[in-house]
Amino acid sequence: MNDNRLAFKLVDQLERPLRDLRISVTDRCNFRCSYCMPRAVFGQNYPYLPRPDILSFEEIARVGQVFSTLGVRKIRLTGGEPLLRKNLEQLISQLSLLPNVETALTTNASLLAKKAYALKEAGLNRLTVSLDALDNATFQLMSDADFDVEDVLQGIEEAHRVGFENIKVNCVIKRGVNDHALEDLTRYFKGTAITVRFIEYMDVGSTNNWHAKEVVPAKEMKETIERMFPLKDGEQSYPGEVAKSYRYEDDSGKVGFITSVTQPFCGDCTRIRLSTDGKLYSCLFATTGFDLRQQLRSGASDQALSTMIIALWQKRSDRYSELRQIASGEKKKIEMSYIGG
Ligand code: SAM
Ligand code: SF4
Ligand code: SF4
Repeated sequence: MNDNRLAFKLVDQLERPLRDLRISVTDRCNFRCSYCMPRAVFGQNYPYLPRPDILSFEEIARVGQVFSTLGVRKIRLTGGEPLLRKNLEQLISQLSLLPNVETALTTNASLLAKKAYALKEAGLNRLTVSLDALDNATFQLMSDADFDVEDVLQGIEEAHRVGFENIKVNCVIKRGVNDHALEDLTRYFKGTAITVRFIEYMDVGSTNNWHAKEVVPAKEMKETIERMFPLKDGEQSYPGEVAKSYRYEDDSGKVGFITSVTQPFCGDCTRIRLSTDGKLYSCLFATTGFDLRQQLRSGASDQALSTMIIALWQKRSDRYSELRQIASGEKKKIEMSYIGG
């Protein structure tokens, strides 16, 4: 889509436009997924951000508005667990007023059954639910928390009931832990309006003890599914979509793969991230962020904020996943719960 409000084409060093803003609304979570916030690190004494450091809804809405004038067309709220942020629907109501901007939310769905109606009423456009297994034992092994698969499934059902369409389910596959979720989730959601996307386990952050041998490549995942149900190529929903999607040959729905490790998609990456405390990161794997909160709280005008963001984007040349082989292990990376998944 063209952006009429900019007099020039805003692209980064690799000619990528700025289209997606991901906002981490909280660095806290009620799960302790081993690949994201392992309990050994994120324990009782973990130093979460103090309240005054966290951007207010007014600040976030203002940032969203500024980004919308720069070509952003989708704002995804994430975290941590975004539904832990009190009255999140108030923020969504504000963001929903932005012209030409779609709002999306990624959630572990533990609180979704309670919140779905308010989210829909607030104008939320899209919903992605994370679910790593269908059997409770594996689900709890992955999430390391006192919730049941049933809580998540009820959340999905309620979201569907209140009118969310095209709900996506994200499932991270960790070799030797939840491999069988591939088959279970495929069977469960095939023939429904819900698309499951299987994610390659990524080396994000510095706490999950990532090892390449725990990654199940998308190619292997696809072969597993094709042994059950033949697949044909599916169309990309929009440029820059992170998942490679396939249709079942019998046209009973879609399945997708997020191949960040084996087939990086940096070339199409139009995403920027805002951390819970207002730092802007031009890549999920960035090590330093631009302190937008300081600017917001020291009276910078919208024009001044735009100028800073434009300069940041024009300088951007990130393509970490493509350079992974060279770069891995060199620097301390930012945690996904803080920067937003
Ligand atoms: N708490 C919410 C949730 O789990 O949906 C939102 C935040 S979470 C960080 C966003 C997404 O990142 C989830 O779908 C999660 O599975 C994914 N994720 C987290 N750590 C990951 C990793 N190491 N590799 C691949 N995906 C990861
Ligand atoms: Fe929480 Fe989501 Fe990270 Fe799991 S993936 S620990 S639910 S933020
Ligand atoms: Fe985008 Fe960075 Fe991920 Fe590449 S590694 S797709 S540039 S966020």
